[in-house]
Order: sequence, then structure tokens, then C-alpha cells
Amino acid sequence: MNYISTRGGKDKVSAAGAIKQGIAHDGGLFMPETIPTLDNQDIAELCEMSYPERAAYILSRFLSDYTYEELLEDCTAAYSPDRFVGGAAPITKINEKTFMLELWHGPTSAFKDMALQIMPKLLSRALVKTGEKRCALILVATSGDTGKAALEGYRDVDGVKIMVYYPVDGVSRVQKLQMSTQLGENVAVCAIEGNFDDAQTGVKQIFGDESMAELLDKNEVFLSSANSINWGRLAPQIVYYVSAYCDLINSGEIYVGEKINVTVPTGNFGNIFAAFIAKQMGLPLNRLVCASNKNNILTDFLSTGVYDRNRSFYTTMSPSMDILISSNLERLLYVMSGCENTAELMKKLSTEGKYSIDEALKAKLDEHFTGLYCDEENTAAEIKRTFNENGYLIDTHSAVGLNCAKQYMETNSDGVKMLVVSTASPYKFAADVYESITGKAPTDELSALSELSALTKTEIPYPLKDIDKREIRFNKVIEKQSMSDEVLNTLGIER
Ligand SMILES: *Cc1c(COP(=O)(O)O)cnc(C)c1O
Repeated sequence: MNYISTRGGKDKVSAAGAIKQGIAHDGGLFMPETIPTLDNQDIAELCEMSYPERAAYILSRFLSDYTYEELLEDCTAAYSPDRFVGGAAPITKINEKTFMLELWHGPTSAFKDMALQIMPKLLSRALVKTGEKRCALILVATSGDTGKAALEGYRDVDGVKIMVYYPVDGVSRVQKLQMSTQLGENVAVCAIEGNFDDAQTGVKQIFGDESMAELLDKNEVFLSSANSINWGRLAPQIVYYVSAYCDLINSGEIYVGEKINVTVPTGNFGNIFAAFIAKQMGLPLNRLVCASNKNNILTDFLSTGVYDRNRSFYTTMSPSMDILISSNLERLLYVMSGCENTAELMKKLSTEGKYSIDEALKAKLDEHFTGLYCDEENTAAEIKRTFNENGYLIDTHSAVGLNCAKQYMETNSDGVKMLVVSTASPYKFAADVYESITGKAPTDELSALSELSALTKTEIPYPLKDIDKREIRFNKVIEKQSMSDEVLNTLGIER
């Protein structure tokens, strides 16, 4: 199976090539040339498998230059029960029609682990498969969550090193502790004086610096990124939709072939796009509800056909969804309207900050997607209501999802069961969750964890437990001008 660009450029690469390269030369995203299919017989077989087996099965359909044995070995290690305590993607039923798909049982307590635990292993193999002799240095600028998930994923993976920059005053105390106590021989973490944009700009400059690339190349190193637009991050996300469908069959909630609806709390459109691909493969999904927070650019796009990023940006209590450019939407435009139209729309987006789609494309989107949103007040109310009425604790992102799912079910009496994707542990956003339930702020951000635990009689998940008692390994703070020097420093390379 080959991968080509959403913008029609000449790239045509294997899966390993797409994972190593990340983005196509014309700026487009890689997509498989065809979408493999699943029939009821396949689904019946998948029902009998464990999560790692299901993952290897699905991935082998897309990554044809990896053997099934390689994939099974990697998936078994990535989704092992000691990393994903309580299962990789368990489901909790909260009422007759509504099911929460919990994707946050991994080592950083958020759903990015579902992809970032496996993708580094796929990259490591891609280096071997493409005859790459150099070591890949993953450079990440983070506002918190992605950095930690990437560190955990790349830690001690062969042929790869990772370096993460974060803004010294731009991440929460828990996030800072998570990163500064990171284990692993091939990891480095460094704070910079500045905000997230400074960190991001600095990393982009390093990526664009040709003399740096030459120097690194001489020392057998090349730069790579852990972006959510890499196909190696997207493909593993298809798996949990298939797996959830199988689990609902196995627990007697649905029959083989029964359609279900899915609601996904959305930021960069990666997670919900994976659901769409699962649907294209033949998984019986009915409606895909795209849930946004107050930054409701996707809600507007799906209802009007106009994507317009010229608007206010809000900082909300669901920060991973505070996004105005949803990069993976490009893949959907490509599937539904082809590369020429996609290239044109993306050009408009970069020059004018907006584009509008024609009626035919809008009609195609309407066949699958509904866009809804939930503001801050309703997010807090949803957390409180779900805890009080269902005894079930959810985080701020999942609350946006559940609220939108309820809005959908109220106005559509299709009677179809609803799977709501739950993307973070409530403890990851403990202070906001605590305040939503009690109406008052916790003593401080760190004590919010134990206060939430005492209030709700639930346990702090292992990745966040005793986080303040671990050894600090990285406490360096540098000026933003020194970021590339710090890279060389870390690698032991002299200018
Ligand atoms: C990244 C993230 C999202 C958004 O997922 P996308 O694939 O970017 O749409 C939602 N919730 C949480 C907790 C996240 O970390």
C-alpha cells in the first residue's frame, strides 16, 4: 500500500516512508491510496482477539511493509497491562443508550498515549526498513500534554532521541513535574524563558536551519517531529473504534451489523477522522458528532460550509481543544473532494485565513458529520450532573463530548446507541473538575488531586500518583535564543 499527498504532489511512499517523512513535500498530508475494508466476518474474528491483536490486525491492513509479527510484537509491548492499567480502551456504560470509551488508562493519563505509545516503535522500524543509518532526533515544543506523552512514547526506543521544550511559565505545575521527572536514557527536557509561541517558533527555526541540518547530518543525526499529522499517529487511532464495536458486541449491547453513533471531543480533527476512516472501512458507524468547546470553529464549518479562522481565540478548561486550525480536516477534504480542490482550499486558508466549500462537498459532509459545541458553563454543569446522577467522574474534554452527545440525542430520536470518546482522566484536570463539582477552588493545583480523590472516593491513576515525590531530572531554563545550542549541547556536538 502506497501513501500519497492530499495536495497531489509527486510523493509516493511506503508506510515506513510516510512515517519517517511525516509531511509530504508539497505541504500536504499522507493518505493511503486505498482504504482497506472490513466485513462482518472480519469483525466476528476481531471480537475474539485481545486489544494488541486487534491493533496488529488493523495496522497490518494499512502498513503493508510491516509484517504482522512485527506489528504484533510492537502492539503487545505498547498496550501492555502494566502500561495501560485497567485495559487499553475499556467502555463504561452510563445509561441504556450511552457508553463512554475511556482512552486515558495509559502512562500519561490522556488519549494521546493511544498513538504515542506505538508510533515511536513504528518509526524505529521505519528507519531500519528505509536503510536509514542516522539517528532521529524528535524535537517537540509543547504547551504541556503532547510533550509528556511523546517523552513516554519515545523513551528508550532504538535509533531515536527526543528533546522537549516547554515555556517556563506556560505549563501547569503537574505538567512541569510530569516532564521534569521523566525517565529514560534518550530523553531531554528543557524550559525556555518565553511563552508557548516562543518555544514553537524556536523549534520551527531549528527545523528550517540548513547549516544546523548539515552539522547534524555530519554527526549522523536528522530531525523529525511527533506531530499529530503523521500517519503513524493516525492509524493506531482507527483501532479503538473497531475494538469498541467488538466489545459492545461481546457484552451483548449490540448485534453484529448494528449501527452506532460516535461523539468525539475534537481539536486537531485527528481522533474523529480516525472514526471516519473506520466507517469507510465498513464499521457500522452512523452519525459522527464533532464536539467542540467555546472555540467552535468546526461547529460553524460543519453547519455553514465556511471555515474562518479570523475570530477570537479562547482559553478554556479543555485546553487540548483550544485550536483554530484543525490540521487533519485536510484529510477529510481530500477524501471527499480530491487533491486539486484540497490544495486550493489550503492555499486560501494560509493566505486569507478562510475558505468556503461548494454545495456538493457540503452535502457529503452532512451525510456523516454533525457539529455541536459546549461552552464553559455547560462543561462544568455536565461534570457535576454526570457525577451526581451517574456516579461517574469525567474530565473537562470528555464533558464537552458527553454534553454534545446529549444535545444530539435530544434532537434526534433515532434510538441509535451512542459511544462517547473520553479523552483524559479527570485527574489530569483535577482542579477544574473539583471546582465544577463543589463550586469552590481546591487549595492549590497539586493538592487538587488528593482533594478530588477524597471527595469522589476514586483513585488517583498511577501516572499522577505521588508526582511531587519523584526525582527531578531536568530543571534547566534557557533563553529562547539558545535553543539550537542546547540541542547541540545535549547531543555532545561542537559547532
Ligand atoms: C489532543 C486531545 C483532544 C483532541 O484530539 P484531536 O485528535 O486533536 O481532535 C481532545 N482531548 C484531549 C484530552 C486531548 O489531549
